[in-house]
Amino acid sequence: MGLDAQPSGVCAGGGRGAAGPWTSPSALRPPLLRLSFIFLLLAAPSARAAGYKTCPMVKLDMLNVHLVAHTHDDVGWLKTVDQYFYGTYNTIQHAGVQYILDSVISSLLAEPTRRFVYVEMAFFSRWWHQQTNATQDVVRELVRQGRLEFANGGWVMNDEAATHYGAIIDQMTLGLRFLEDTFGSDGRPLVAWHIDPFGHSREQASLFAQMGFDGFFFGRLDYQDKLVRKKMLRMEQLWRASASLKPPAADLFTSVLPNLYNPPKNLCWDVLCADRPIVDDPRSPEYNAKELVDYFLKLATAQGQYYRTHHTIMTMGSDFQYENANMWFKNLDKLIQLVNAQQQANGSRVNVLYSTPACYLWELNKANLTWSVKQDDFFPYADGPHKFWTGFFTSRPALKRYERLSYNFLQVCNQLEALAGPAANVGPYGSGDSAPLNEAMAVLQHHDAVSGTSKQHVADDYARQVAAGWGPCEVLLSNALALLSGSKEEFIFCRNLNISLCPLSQTSKNFQVTIYNPLGRKVDWMVRLPVGKNIFLVKDPSGTVVPSDVVTVPSSDRQDLLFSASVPALGFSIYSVTQAPGQSPQTRIPQSRSQKPASHVKASSHILTIQNEHIWARFDPDTGLLMEMKNLDQDVLLPIRQAFYWYNASTGNSLSAQVSGAYIFRPTRQEPLPISHWAQTRLVKTDLVQEVHQNFSAWCSQVVRLYPGQRHLELEWTVGPIPVGDGWGKEVISYFDTALETKGLFFTDSNGREILERRRNYRPTWKLKQTEPVAGNYYPVNSRIYITDGDVQLTVLTDRSQGGSSLRDGSIELMVHRRLLRDDERGVGEPLLEKGAGLWVRGRHLVLLDKVRTAAVGHRLQAEKELLAPQVVLAPGGGTPYHLEVTPRKQYSGMRRELPPNVHLLTLARWGRQMLLLRLEHQFALGEDMVGNLSSPVTLDLTDLFSAFTIIDLKETTLAANQLRANASRLQWKSNEDAALKPSPSQLDPASITLQPMEIRTFLASVQWGKDG
Ligand SMILES: [Zn+2]
Repeated sequence: MGLDAQPSGVCAGGGRGAAGPWTSPSALRPPLLRLSFIFLLLAAPSARAAGYKTCPMVKLDMLNVHLVAHTHDDVGWLKTVDQYFYGTYNTIQHAGVQYILDSVISSLLAEPTRRFVYVEMAFFSRWWHQQTNATQDVVRELVRQGRLEFANGGWVMNDEAATHYGAIIDQMTLGLRFLEDTFGSDGRPLVAWHIDPFGHSREQASLFAQMGFDGFFFGRLDYQDKLVRKKMLRMEQLWRASASLKPPAADLFTSVLPNLYNPPKNLCWDVLCADRPIVDDPRSPEYNAKELVDYFLKLATAQGQYYRTHHTIMTMGSDFQYENANMWFKNLDKLIQLVNAQQQANGSRVNVLYSTPACYLWELNKANLTWSVKQDDFFPYADGPHKFWTGFFTSRPALKRYERLSYNFLQVCNQLEALAGPAANVGPYGSGDSAPLNEAMAVLQHHDAVSGTSKQHVADDYARQVAAGWGPCEVLLSNALALLSGSKEEFIFCRNLNISLCPLSQTSKNFQVTIYNPLGRKVDWMVRLPVGKNIFLVKDPSGTVVPSDVVTVPSSDRQDLLFSASVPALGFSIYSVTQAPGQSPQTRIPQSRSQKPASHVKASSHILTIQNEHIWARFDPDTGLLMEMKNLDQDVLLPIRQAFYWYNASTGNSLSAQVSGAYIFRPTRQEPLPISHWAQTRLVKTDLVQEVHQNFSAWCSQVVRLYPGQRHLELEWTVGPIPVGDGWGKEVISYFDTALETKGLFFTDSNGREILERRRNYRPTWKLKQTEPVAGNYYPVNSRIYITDGDVQLTVLTDRSQGGSSLRDGSIELMVHRRLLRDDERGVGEPLLEKGAGLWVRGRHLVLLDKVRTAAVGHRLQAEKELLAPQVVLAPGGGTPYHLEVTPRKQYSGMRRELPPNVHLLTLARWGRQMLLLRLEHQFALGEDMVGNLSSPVTLDLTDLFSAFTIIDLKETTLAANQLRANASRLQWKSNEDAALKPSPSQLDPASITLQPMEIRTFLASVQWGKDG
């Protein structure tokens, strides 16, 4: 290493431009360190192997206070990701992540006992790529010595309430892969660190356990829960996070931090704080060292009372702190020296040290105690009476849907990149790349992003990043489809199909439709495309004409062409559409059933029904509302009423000044108000669809729909722009009312995977004092909510994350949209109002009525179909052959056989030049399928499963693919419930891969592509 090896981050990082009026530029400039000095410091005695072996010494007979120097860097919140990284717009919030990292590295080098923990890879990786080789070497050494520790290591610290497990796994994989590629096992995080997310899901803990983490730290939990835990010494527990996976597979040691993630009161030594620094010169009139040491000793002892070991943790840092790390570290150095000096001077039993979350955890593990077990989750979160953070379950519903839709598209992009091989990246359409969408989706999982709790301009920026990510994926899809179909077409991606806009299909006489199916099983899918006023002939891949229909789009004069497409597993079918010549337009005109409440007219001829071979639904002739639904296969009839209501958002009252806002849900009254008591209806019946169009008001309508073969009722709602001219913020719900006797119980999914039982006005681990009968019973619904009387089950599947509840027996409600006039004072500083008149939001609820014993088969398989819906790609047709030796084909499957229904292909993506990442998941819980065998273990032969490539070698990894499963070992914890069994390591046989209920297995496969792939 030459003289120019002076780390640029160390000597040139701070001080340029970002310094505000609150400090002089020189205050930010880290001390210049001479090269020899740097390496002297790096050769500190603690330089041993990575992991727990680099942890500091503790004193066994004392209370050890683990000081954890950290910064919490939101990947967008009040500022965008780039504004935070570079430190622009400091008038909004003073924060510049690049300077934080520069400054921290410099301070770590200045004193070898100092340690620091960093978390968000979206920021760290960006900073890393801007450093010189010399700085990178210095940082690698700090990591090796455990002085710079990574916790969590995801691209972001994801939200837990509005996220889907697939996207969580993807974002963790991205961040952990960066660490593995950059630092190897030295940089591999040992603990999960979710210090800020607003409540904690059980599935998140399960996923963390499966990723190999030894422990989990967080800050936010219900205030009542926290009080009880402190009293019962249950701030630390073993979380048994799966009802299906055998312990300890989903067991995760969980620690609640004492003070959210902030430093103790009066001990914040950042430029963003105003606390007094330690003045240890007794001659100074400002001398305060003795007072602060006494204060600290009392504080540490008091805090230690709530924890079970001789160790306690203090988080010394907060949001975007350490921009001038020297301020923090200089005072912490003094604090440690002064407090520990008391051991000699006064026989103090407090020992304070620089530590990290992993090193604290290591000491807890060594204490070898028996821990109590938790089986439920940490939702909903309230930080005080009347202060339930249940609004963000629904906030920004359009962004939440865009996230789910983009998850679908990213999986399609990943799969086609895997199926087509390197030809997907460089082809006739240019450079295709899945990475930008993968990164944008990872950013969107941040706990202020998909949660809907950022400022408006930041929310816009998240959407911009995702939209920009779609482009390179579209190029990739074009390259892959041309290669796999053998035909070079002018592929068109219609991104606005949700509002029936697609110029190609609306103006062309002929076009072709490629439908790609990302599922491991064949799918039949109703394709719906906007077209002109004509009659069309639709031909399937074999050239046979298939039934099609043209129907009017609700509340417009536009038309949609409908036809049912059949698409093989992990493959595509190409259909052709031709305008029929010489025929006059014969668009189906909906039978107008427009009517006002007419109690005096009760003719049976007015009864509205829609029906297919599985489902029958009847509507009230007076009100136009859904009134009955029948499952014809099971002969289950359920009277059910569905309508839209709104809660009047609280602006504070005598009980509490808390208002409803982006985070908080607080209705003024418990009873919601109807948007309308009746709906104007229209009936559309053709061979391919039956629809009842319901118009409730100028800003609320719905289409209730049945396609042939469909086993659920589809409710496509359109809500907005929500009017707020009357001065009231509104929170709109879809409400389902039945007479089912549900005994206060309902069920919601956890991040789209396992199901949790919810009971009204109840928490499983403490006696709840309920202060908000509505908001305090809301839970995250990521994919489904259901109620049952033990015999019949009513399930509603959602197309995005929403808040939901069952506030009366037999009822289900889902909050679909909200628009609010006040800020709820959790920092975002803006009301959730959205620009101009506000947003229209369109979404779908799928209603399944079933016997309880067969219900899981219905909702599991339908949810999978919704999450990974087919991707429709258009082209004018008449393209040129792509490879002359390959005959163009109109149908393709990347698999030799279909996956069994209980196996979900969770991930198929490129990992390297000749490597693929493959995740297979058992998508049923233990005992869930009570009739068939879908809840049984299932065994697959992977050796010849895929036709697109041949698997040469297969290695199994942990869930985030950052370590081989055979090498992974987690810390063992003793619990007061059945002894933890170590899972027996099984020999990996690619011809016989067994999945237990709810198990996900992750593989890295070396592959060879065929000649057309
Ligand atoms: Zn945060």
